[in-house]
Amino acid sequence: MAVPEHLQQHLTAGRVLAAAYGYRDRFAPSPTGVLHLGNLQTALLSWLAARQAGGGWMLRIDDLDTPRNRAGAIEAIQRDLIWLGLHWDGPPVLQSERRGTYHSWLSWLRRSGRLFACRCSRRELAGQPIYPGVCRQARHSWGMQQQRLPSWRLRVADDDPHGSGDVVLRRADGFIAYQLATVIDDISFGITDVVRGADLREALPAQHSLFAALGEDPPRFRHGPLLRDARGRKLSKREASAGLEPLRAAGMDAPAVIGCLASGLQLVPPDARLSATELLDDLTHKDITALIS
Ligand code: GLU
Repeated sequence: MAVPEHLQQHLTAGRVLAAAYGYRDRFAPSPTGVLHLGNLQTALLSWLAARQAGGGWMLRIDDLDTPRNRAGAIEAIQRDLIWLGLHWDGPPVLQSERRGTYHSWLSWLRRSGRLFACRCSRRELAGQPIYPGVCRQARHSWGMQQQRLPSWRLRVADDDPHGSGDVVLRRADGFIAYQLATVIDDISFGITDVVRGADLREALPAQHSLFAALGEDPPRFRHGPLLRDARGRKLSKREASAGLEPLRAAGMDAPAVIGCLASGLQLVPPDARLSATELLDDLTHKDITALIS
């Protein structure tokens, strides 16, 4: 079943953007709180890689999971990035304003027979790393049953090379799943390259299966290293989860923080002070892609 015209235009827009930029990444935090140091290191790395490539860098706010959003977090994320000199291109994209788009794709995938309704509970699936296909043939209704909606899963062949199992695209609580929203956005915004945190490596198989189901090439996904301090030591959970505020309270300014993040990546010596653009200039002859894989 061919992609209908109103959806085809997203694919076309994405291709045009990707071709125009050559390299385009997005930084996509969830507004569940302030950016912690790990997020900031990731932001710095993906910004550096994009700017080194002469490419684009957009900001996308992954705010679909509304119960997890924190008041003021979207503003705080933007303030912190600007304070650090990590400027993005164009207006930020809020996923909450794109629900209609995700639902249109979901609806088309459902009509083209690629999805099935699943009524397995979290408890029933506990301990199974890959969905065992229980509801694939079940033909469940789409309505409420015992006050629960089904989740909708993408049918993924057992011999699929990505090994993702059947990916949830709409959750049983009615929310669009992160996997669907991120893949649709990466396609529609012409994202060619993604540099993100190592914790998201586990999302790769599901995303690859979904790109394949849509017949689109995935961006080149690469993941950054774990966060370390200026002397190469792993940060404690408490240090890593705090945002910029304690650093600012201790009198650090933006060049000190950039110096600290960059020295954690072994890009500059400990105690270096420099702005994000100075760091970019300093790295002209250094291949930072060795840090991401
Ligand atoms: N919003 C996701 C997170 O903060 C990141 C999405 C992505 O980079 O693919 O974990």
